[in-house]
Amino acid sequence: MMPITPTLTNTAFAIDMENMVKTYGSGSTAVQAIKGVSLAVRPGEMVGLLGPSGSGKSTLLQCLGAVINPTRGRITLGGEIVYDNGWRTKDLRALRRDKIGFVFQAPYLIPFISVLDNVALLPMLAGQSNKHARERALELLTALEVDHRAYAKPSELSGGEQQRVSIARALANKPPFILADEPTAPLDSERSLIVMQLLAKLAEQYQTAIIVVTHDDIIIPRFKRLYRLRDGIAHEEQGQGLPFPD
Ligand code: ADP
Ligand code: MG
Repeated sequence: MMPITPTLTNTAFAIDMENMVKTYGSGSTAVQAIKGVSLAVRPGEMVGLLGPSGSGKSTLLQCLGAVINPTRGRITLGGEIVYDNGWRTKDLRALRRDKIGFVFQAPYLIPFISVLDNVALLPMLAGQSNKHARERALELLTALEVDHRAYAKPSELSGGEQQRVSIARALANKPPFILADEPTAPLDSERSLIVMQLLAKLAEQYQTAIIVVTHDDIIIPRFKRLYRLRDGIAHEEQGQGLPFPD
């Protein structure tokens, strides 16, 4: 008799995307950005998502994060089927707020509140006391070396500083899933590595599942596993998994 070997079920993955298709528009102007992509990320794992410009990386992250509607396929997050040829999760806003940390290419900070409150806002909305949320926010701003700007307005910060604030904001709720779309694009090499190291630590400490879209040659060799998008299809690759410098 064949030995029974345990197989990975959906619940072994934090993020599981199966056969996802995304078509923008319809008729003669339709663009099939994603043509049937499957990918999965384990709890505590940080994978890279590579691919040339226009290959569908941002589209894929936005579908995963319930920012835009996929056309078809299945998405399972933390063992829960959230999309199966239609959204299965009723409260997508709560899903985005409580479960998913987004880091976009542009920081999208709220201009009229302080840097500190930009980071503390989501935890406050999720029910944490203002004091606790601000303490946690300051901790993250310190880790990202931008705490000296905590009480400034976003517009008073440089582009790189704003991006670090947006990363702190994505981490503030300790979300189980982080989706980062070229998070280090506006940063210098040293800061890019600090940010990636912080994400890697977070993955390990909190078993966060992280997908990072990047072109950055400093970052790419750090991943143990990668997906490369080409013509709307994803190919899995083994990465070098280089350690971060001390
Ligand atoms: P990447 O992030 O890899 O550069 P995108 O996901 O932004 O790629 O885009 C993938 C494809 O989908 C491209 O052909 C792009 O022009 C198209 N696309 C992206 N967003 C839209 C949109 N809102 N409407 C129509 N086409 C879009
Ligand atoms: Mg993009």
